[in-house]
Amino acid sequence: MTLPLAQRIALVTGASRGIGRGLAKELARQGAHVIAVARTQGGLEELDDEIRTGGGEATLVPCDLKDFDALDRLGLAIHQRWGKLDILVANAGLLGPVTPLPHIDQKQWDDSIAVNVTANYRLLRSMDPLLRSSDAGRVVSISSGAGNKADLSPYKGMYAVSKAALDAIMRTYAAECAATSNIKVTIVNPGIVRTKMRAQLMPGEDPLTLPTPDEVAPQIAALCAPSWMHNGCLFQLPEGVLKKFQGPANC
Ligand code: NAP
Repeated sequence: MTLPLAQRIALVTGASRGIGRGLAKELARQGAHVIAVARTQGGLEELDDEIRTGGGEATLVPCDLKDFDALDRLGLAIHQRWGKLDILVANAGLLGPVTPLPHIDQKQWDDSIAVNVTANYRLLRSMDPLLRSSDAGRVVSISSGAGNKADLSPYKGMYAVSKAALDAIMRTYAAECAATSNIKVTIVNPGIVRTKMRAQLMPGEDPLTLPTPDEVAPQIAALCAPSWMHNGCLFQLPEGVLKKFQGPANC
């Protein structure tokens, strides 16, 4: 039996734990060769074991996404080995400081912007020619409701600012791809998921009440398939609905 993502090459950032790890396993289970990026070597090796146990294949890339030149080298390495990239999942992210905006220090600000925003622009810059070399390049950006909801929450400004910027990057790229390529870009709000980031934000919450990364992964994997034809939309995972971005509502 041919698996749905057989012969497809998928790069997943933040694959050492959480949503990225769950999704990397699912993409491999569906036949993709997963290029797994994160800093924590141990987490990547555990992922590799899980993927191989399931009969799949992965290439591990221990890398700090703040090392932007490394992302260019990764693009070159993918070009030399495969000549294309079919799936890019921009998943890695930082919650950043949860504090009043004027209390954020410059280092925290710079780290959040570097990982949540600049690294993703650099990934697109490096991977765009490879995605265009695929017959059905798919980009999935794991975002949040934080940056695009009508009433922004107090104290979560750092996260909201970075996710709003990330959404603008991905929406712009989607618009540029629409006329010139087969690439489809989808922005995902995964909802609340049982991960380290969620525990950091809500330490008092019972994690057992939340869906696991493995449970949400199949819905995200569907957006990576060649058969997925929507572009530039927001997928609200908890409701399973696709939404168009809209301008500001009347106040
Ligand atoms: P998580 O468990 O904290 O995982 C974050 C991942 O990002 C880890 O694999 C981490 O790997 C990687 N990462 C962080 N900084 C990195 C860096 N400098 N270089 C390379 N990799 C880095 O978080 P998660 O909940 O799975 O979040 C995944 C995505 O979902 C994020 O974009 C988040 O904003 C979004 N999201 C999550 C929820 C939720 O409820 N969990 C809700 C809405 C949106 P290393 O530490 O090994 O580098």
